[in-house]
Amino acid sequence: MLELRNIQAYYGSIQALKDISLNIERGEIITLIGANGAGKSTTLMSVCGIVAPRSGEIIFKGEPIQSRSADQIVAMGICQVPEGRHIFPALSVQENLDLGAFLRTDRGGIKQDMEYVFSLFPILKERRHQPGGTLSGGEQQMLAMSRALMARPELLLLDEPSMGLAPLIIQQIFNIIKKINEEHNTTIFLVEQNANQALRIANRGYVIENGRITLTDAADKLLSNAEVQKAYLGM
Ligand code: ATP
Repeated sequence: MLELRNIQAYYGSIQALKDISLNIERGEIITLIGANGAGKSTTLMSVCGIVAPRSGEIIFKGEPIQSRSADQIVAMGICQVPEGRHIFPALSVQENLDLGAFLRTDRGGIKQDMEYVFSLFPILKERRHQPGGTLSGGEQQMLAMSRALMARPELLLLDEPSMGLAPLIIQQIFNIIKKINEEHNTTIFLVEQNANQALRIANRGYVIENGRITLTDAADKLLSNAEVQKAYLGM
């Protein structure tokens, strides 16, 4: 479904991505794990058209997208939940969700998806008239994920959904990521510093260090890999 071929990306003279190649099959959960500053967010931002790669190719559903604009990429079926959520704090929960569906015209489908996200996160239904900025961190993460789902993406990009959340909420968020993948047939590209939780729900994983992919394997193999355990699982 998605393939990155030899992506190089820079911020000015700083090279953030060095020859990144990876692929995601339809229906998979793939996780990219790595330390602070390794290049995880830059990888996601290059997929969704926010960072333009200097060279390399990004192929989505058979078409090169590395030169397309972010809105064209959303229209093709890729949606990102950025690090730090970035919901609209002054708008209500309902208005945030409506904005997620702004490219769509299928009223029936929008209504159905609204019911689906409320079934995933009943708290958002209770709070739907409340300004987004008054929600807790965990609820804002739920809203950011729901807003992305309202675009009905085929590929959902999640940037550190666990960041800054309490362990119980993190568990809930990861369970729901798995549920979205299984029930909604959404392919998921998950970037995480919380390698343990991410590898538990993923099919496969990639490890990124200093802008380079250094390891890739089935998620259960990475969980039992001694180097991964030492560097990322605190064992
Ligand atoms: P984190 O987990 O801390 O978000 P990350 O793995 O997502 O880290 P990136 O944010 O992709 O890493 O950063 C990769 C490299 O690019 C880092 O060295 C970072 O300092 C640098 N970088 C990121 N954004 C910018 C920017 N806007 N300008 C200059 N350098 C940047």
